[in-house]
Amino acid sequence: MRPVAPLPPVDLSPPPACGICGGAQPPPIGRKEFSRSGNDHFAGERQFADTGIHIPYHRCRDCGVVFTAALDDWSPLDFARHIYNDDYTFSDPPFDSERPARNAAIVAGIWHYEQDSRSVLDYGGGNGRLAAELRMRGFDAASHDAFYDPQPLPDRRFGLVCSFEVIEHVPHRDQAGWVAGFAAMMAPAAVGLLGTELVTEPVDIEHWYFSPRNGHITVHTADSLQRLLAPHRLEAVTIANGLHLVRRTG
Ligand SMILES: [Zn+2]
Repeated sequence: MRPVAPLPPVDLSPPPACGICGGAQPPPIGRKEFSRSGNDHFAGERQFADTGIHIPYHRCRDCGVVFTAALDDWSPLDFARHIYNDDYTFSDPPFDSERPARNAAIVAGIWHYEQDSRSVLDYGGGNGRLAAELRMRGFDAASHDAFYDPQPLPDRRFGLVCSFEVIEHVPHRDQAGWVAGFAAMMAPAAVGLLGTELVTEPVDIEHWYFSPRNGHITVHTADSLQRLLAPHRLEAVTIANGLHLVRRTG
């Protein structure tokens, strides 16, 4: 197992409110050792050594979102050093190439006949692999990622804005701002694609998706997604497990 460097301070006190909908005093669902990763589940063994720090997750009574506020005081640099660091790939091996290649195939398959006309932004696109794959297939595709490729956002809007396995990494207090940024990149007739697993019932803290070492800190329900999107006159339609089409409501 890989060692984990000492962590910045973690706030174990219960959050006063849900950052998505404002629901008061969301009750706890349990705690998870910080070093638990999603790949522990898939590899069948722990990837990182214990830190002794157990991250509390809470569930909003109103919108159902499951989140932790324990890292609310972390700066972007703290996240970069302790989650999105050189060992991140051991928590999520498909991150580097397998998942971007798979998602590029999804986009290229759905918009096969529009590849010459549909511009694509991969919002939170990691190393840019998905956009590169789409460019090789003839799409006008760009990537932006605050952690892995901190360039300014492109100064234009896109016909398709996609974001795979990103929103669950955004702190609950920053979710509204993140969605506003996503919506702002959509051209008037654009659609969006959001890839994220929704909370499964009954909620169980042992579910692999609640994985602090991966940075999975906000896991949505269909309702919490709608509440975030509604102010932008957008809605999400779940089209496959963990895949949601975002479309305009008016
Ligand atoms: Zn809520």
